[in-house]
Amino acid sequence: MTTVVVIGGDAAGMSAASKVKRELQDADVIVYEKTETISYSACGMPYWIAGVVESEDQLLVMSPEKAKAKRGLDVHIHHEVTAIDPAAKTIEGINHATGARFTQAYDTLMIATGARAVLPPIPGMELPGVFTLRAFDDSRRIQRYLAEYDPAHAVIIGGGYIGIEMAEALRERELDVHLVEMLPQLMPNFDDDMVGDITQHVQEQGVTLHLSTRAERVEKEGERLRVTLSDGSSLVTDMVLVSVGVRPNSELAQAAGLAVGASGAITVDAHMRTSDPDIYAAGDCVEYEHIVLGAPVWIPLAPSANKGGRVAGDNMSGGDTTFPGILGTAVVKVFDYTMSVTGLTERSARTSGKFGADGADVGAAITSGTDKAGYWPGAARITVKLVFQKSTGKILGAQLVGKAGVNKRIDIVAAAISGGLTVRDLGMMDLSYAPPFSPTYDPLQVCANVAEKQVG
Ligand code: FAD
Repeated sequence: MTTVVVIGGDAAGMSAASKVKRELQDADVIVYEKTETISYSACGMPYWIAGVVESEDQLLVMSPEKAKAKRGLDVHIHHEVTAIDPAAKTIEGINHATGARFTQAYDTLMIATGARAVLPPIPGMELPGVFTLRAFDDSRRIQRYLAEYDPAHAVIIGGGYIGIEMAEALRERELDVHLVEMLPQLMPNFDDDMVGDITQHVQEQGVTLHLSTRAERVEKEGERLRVTLSDGSSLVTDMVLVSVGVRPNSELAQAAGLAVGASGAITVDAHMRTSDPDIYAAGDCVEYEHIVLGAPVWIPLAPSANKGGRVAGDNMSGGDTTFPGILGTAVVKVFDYTMSVTGLTERSARTSGKFGADGADVGAAITSGTDKAGYWPGAARITVKLVFQKSTGKILGAQLVGKAGVNKRIDIVAAAISGGLTVRDLGMMDLSYAPPFSPTYDPLQVCANVAEKQVG
């Protein structure tokens, strides 16, 4: 009987495990997860903290018992894998519930260890009241703290999507929120000319921004915390949320001699196979091929974790499925606004080295229009940016900001890039129209037509 071992029991790991068991009913599929939670919606955690999602149970998709009963998977929680021996085809680990060490042999191994939150190298990160948000337990800790201490004030360090989602969640809980970002803009994975509306909006929602400012240390101040900033000021607060980024959990793979890429994440081929033919990997711990760049990149997001896991599972069961790569397509709610991105930003296209010296072959167009027919009640501004190759018109990326219609419009561009389409193709595509949903010329097509004038 084949033994398949999976390390990590969330999106990528459980997708792979489930796929293997569906394809190979006789296989022994064993999942090791170091925390007590498997298959949870990390993406829903800010909304549980906000109170929009009422109960944690709504975010917990699967328990070990359910995984056994419904999918035939052997899931061990509190089991951390500490070493892989590719020559012996075994893993070693520790059961944190008992302290016992264990060894398990595998025929095929799947690494789905994900990523972890990074802490900046500043004093005070270990203090009670300082949080990160990554594992499900982190959200429970924050919920308990909110319930127990009823904090009135929070400082968020880092203005990426988790920082912003948490700013909204804590405003929802009526805390006074200060957000500290060392760069001059919020949402650094967007071009700076796309963040004006949301920067103003976030402030209108009661979040005090400290841009181009570093948090230098956190200290106890009686019962509270003091956060000292690089501009010489300081904030006395009740809690600090640190959301300055994530790193791939690839140490196990590296120690086993598996290849990793420039980002430190694990190198896999299109079959999700690592440099060892019997070891697969997927999700936030791997680099995926970027469809536009044709090179591996590390963009940790849920859809590619789920799909990569499924592809790995299929190939581990004897299939021959390839993963087409990623565009880093993402969408985020910013209070009443939505921002979305796919492919390359203008900045990343220009610095990629793929489009002429200093990105001379990169074109960009930005247009603003209404998200519905202008006369339709509630029609609001939507801003579109298209990034394209000037010599060919090929679409390289897009960003959208607005109040409605931002999420699925980005998916149109993702589909267009995947199909190798040009701005002209997009401008002429037969998209739907009715006044409650879009103007006659969709805002995407208006932008595509403006972009086309630069092509050639
Ligand atoms: P993970 O979810 O990190 O799972 C890895 C698992 O492996 C963990 O459970 C970990 O405990 C376990 N593990 C690690 N090492 C070991 C070991 N040695 N032994 C045993 N177990 C181990 N993405 C989106 O696309 N859209 C969103 O809106 C979005 N929102 C998010 C909001 C928040 C607050 C967070 C934290 C993430 C969000 N993400 C979002 C990212 C998304 O959650 C991840 O891309 C996804 O969870 C990755 O899945 P994964 O299985 O690769 O890794």
